[in-house]
Amino acid sequence: MNVCLNRQQKNDLVQRGFSRRSFGRLAAMITAGATLPFYNESAMAQLSAIRGGMPADAVKINANENPLGPCEEALAAIHKVAKDGGRYLYEETFGFQELLAEQEGLKPNYVQPYAGSSAPLHQAVLGFTSPSKPFVTGDPGYEAPERAAEFIGTKVIRVPLTASYAHDVKKMAAASPDAGLIYICNPNNPTGTLTPRAEIEWLLANKPKGSVLLLDEAYIHIAGAPVCSDLVAQDKDIVILRTFSKIYGMAGLRAGAAIGRPDLLEKIRPWTSGALPVTGMVAATASLKSKTLVPERRKIIGDVRQDVLAFLDKHGFEYIPSVSNKFMVNVRRPGKQIIDAMMKEKVYIGRVWPSMPNHVRVSVGTQEEMNRFKTAFLKVMA
Ligand code: PLP
Repeated sequence: MNVCLNRQQKNDLVQRGFSRRSFGRLAAMITAGATLPFYNESAMAQLSAIRGGMPADAVKINANENPLGPCEEALAAIHKVAKDGGRYLYEETFGFQELLAEQEGLKPNYVQPYAGSSAPLHQAVLGFTSPSKPFVTGDPGYEAPERAAEFIGTKVIRVPLTASYAHDVKKMAAASPDAGLIYICNPNNPTGTLTPRAEIEWLLANKPKGSVLLLDEAYIHIAGAPVCSDLVAQDKDIVILRTFSKIYGMAGLRAGAAIGRPDLLEKIRPWTSGALPVTGMVAATASLKSKTLVPERRKIIGDVRQDVLAFLDKHGFEYIPSVSNKFMVNVRRPGKQIIDAMMKEKVYIGRVWPSMPNHVRVSVGTQEEMNRFKTAFLKVMA
């Protein structure tokens, strides 16, 4: 990827309070692609846990991945398209865009496909925040966008979650009259907890003028909570992010989308370039066409989660009640100690958040993987 900022982008940056000196740095940062400070979940999981690679028989429950992988229909579509992979095949991206838009009740130009949702997540920070337009987020929350904001000199305002681990929308709305972006992850990463739909609607109606609500629905289908695309259809100041890395099991294949009013999507889109992986596009389309994937997988993940949370109850461990594919458990000592001890048992769990230093995040794997988690956890907590 090679990015040059055009005149319009530069003027936009100056108006938003960036110095001309920062342009080169921004362009270099975007060109660098995957390097710091643009993270995705697996990059952050590696930062906290993996040194020198994992043993082949390790249990990997540190990056909220889906061990079920892509569905059969997606695999067949990938196989079919692979032989034509010498072509860019943009029409497959259009096909994905149109189908997702239709399913969400939107016009195609309200959906912008990406290779996963990390790209639009970071680009929304670039597009809507600046040194004079803060980024407002929940705490604990998904760190990737905060890091991007800090790197470009945007002020990050962290608003603690409520007692029920929902986003505190009243405090988020009041955090700064100049807020550029207010980020809500629903259900939240790392807590796996929901912010009620009514609260999201309240925030949209009461947020500072000129700010945009970025609603990250990476895990929404796992929770089975209502999606908010109808708010997009009403042309509100909201951009929704979706990824195929979670319930659809395509983290390595890469597909996702930003869903919003075309003028908002246009603020996000120019920060990237290039075609999307055709394998990801056809697999996403095939997954969307499956009528059974979402309910079946929600049940599988939900059953495994319920079993492991019942285990924690039985043994008197305190945890945050999750409706997602991860949960936070209180290990009553600095979480890093338990992460390291679990690693010795070849069970790789997720990281610690500074505001909850005694909690670790654990992803929900297969039943077999969680059985190994249970055995190792009892041993290291003894
Ligand atoms: N948003 C949240 C809350 C996530 O947890 C993740 C990944 O784990 C992403 C976005 C981005 O995922 P991807 O880039 O794989 O689509």
